[in-house]
Amino acid sequence: MSQRTKIKALLESGKTDIDVTVKGWVRTFRNNQFIALNDGSTNNTLQVIVDFENTDPTLLKRITTGAAISATGKLVASVGKGQSVEVKATTIEILGDSDPEKYPLQPKKHSLEFLREIAHLRFRTNTFGAVFRVRNTLAFAVHQFFQERGFIYLHTPIITASDAEGAGETFHVTNFDIANPPKTESGEIDYKQDFFGRSTNLTVSGQLEGELGAMGMSDIYTFGPTFRAENSNTTRHLAEFWMIEPEMAFYDAKDNADLAEALLKYVITYALDKNKDDIEFLTQRLLEEEKQKPQNERSEMTLIEKLQFCLANDFERLTYTEAIDILKDSTPNKKKKFQYLVEGWGTDLQSEHERYLVEKHFKKPVILTDYPKEIKSFYMRQNDDGKTVAAMDILFPGIGEIVGGSQREERLDRLEQRMDEIGIPKDELWWYLDTRRFGGCPHAGFGLGFERLVLFVTGMGNIRDVIPFPRFPKNAEF
Ligand code: ATP
Ligand code: MN
Repeated sequence: MSQRTKIKALLESGKTDIDVTVKGWVRTFRNNQFIALNDGSTNNTLQVIVDFENTDPTLLKRITTGAAISATGKLVASVGKGQSVEVKATTIEILGDSDPEKYPLQPKKHSLEFLREIAHLRFRTNTFGAVFRVRNTLAFAVHQFFQERGFIYLHTPIITASDAEGAGETFHVTNFDIANPPKTESGEIDYKQDFFGRSTNLTVSGQLEGELGAMGMSDIYTFGPTFRAENSNTTRHLAEFWMIEPEMAFYDAKDNADLAEALLKYVITYALDKNKDDIEFLTQRLLEEEKQKPQNERSEMTLIEKLQFCLANDFERLTYTEAIDILKDSTPNKKKKFQYLVEGWGTDLQSEHERYLVEKHFKKPVILTDYPKEIKSFYMRQNDDGKTVAAMDILFPGIGEIVGGSQREERLDRLEQRMDEIGIPKDELWWYLDTRRFGGCPHAGFGLGFERLVLFVTGMGNIRDVIPFPRFPKNAEF
């Protein structure tokens, strides 16, 4: 294979009058002359000019939308508008034909729903090219943020025997013939005979194992796939999603919130800088999309403005109790506009409440802390009031919850007492409790849902459009 230059590098080089070879997929071919070529390195297409009078007509016919081609020629300053440079091709080679009658991606606007059905081809569109380049940058920035701060990237297991959240939304992993699993004498499935000698599932969170790492290496983070068999057909939930979970020894709840805010600002700044073109494109896309909506449903800020606003302002920090007071007094609550009315202290916040706080009341990201212990997990540190735990949720405009975390309970007696109250088997989590028995210390951590972050930065409306191949109820295509 002869070397080729990627279009992004070519456009950024500022050079002209050099010989180049470019390869990519034809977006359009106009007047038997102008190829708009894209190779996915950037949203911008490169114009390739074909000397049609001196080109074999059968070759010209094969330059169709979707075809993969190689073009060699001179990079020259462009006289036409819309591009600064173009390639005057001397050789065109068809690497892969694409029948224009059958190619599903026509050079026109397709709905996101349709593109989801052809997710194997949607990488070739402007929108998904931009989304997945931004996703790539955000993933890299996450690693860079933690690596700069001396965190250790720890790989926690994907198959586990524990359900960290205790929510029971796990996918089971078994090697049994499901039609005929071995049974015990009392008629229950005998997992002792299964591959791992016990019942196992896909992880819902790497947190518990992450804590073990932090209890010896101080600061760790995980960044891997997690799985939840929740039957929630929302625009915010996937059955398979990626989570970033840092755990830090010697951190308290405030240190934890500070780190999460710094992380979010760091990666957003990084993407704004690195993917300027893509985010500008996505900003325009969102403006177009919002034109379809009634005036009062359109956002006050463009995507770029929203991102910049998020960077320029401190996240609002308040307790759950303060939030309940605000919600109780809010207009939608008084006018019974909420689907779930906020009546008293102690109930979980619904996404409509979270979004009211973020989008209407504070109009910026919010860090909510100190939730009632009944609605949070057993491992969260109990506050002195006996009612709340040192939890924190970070709520983002248009997204709702993006981060969930807490200071962890490091006191063995308190932790065991809470596990007993909720009915979490202590013997199964003996290893978790050991870290409290031997050299336990204050520590904290959180989970950031990676796709929710990508949703926020790209301004996309559905989480199924920010992961290459989404997994959700009744869908595992591709
Ligand atoms: P939610 O209330 O939105 O379902 P959760 O309370 O179940 O979230 P956590 O268990 O705290 O969430 O998980 C940590 C983070 O993982 C969340 O803040 C969110 O960003 C992300 N997350 C949780 N569930 C999903 C999902 N099904 N798909 C994508 N991201 C998710
Ligand atoms: Mn959930």
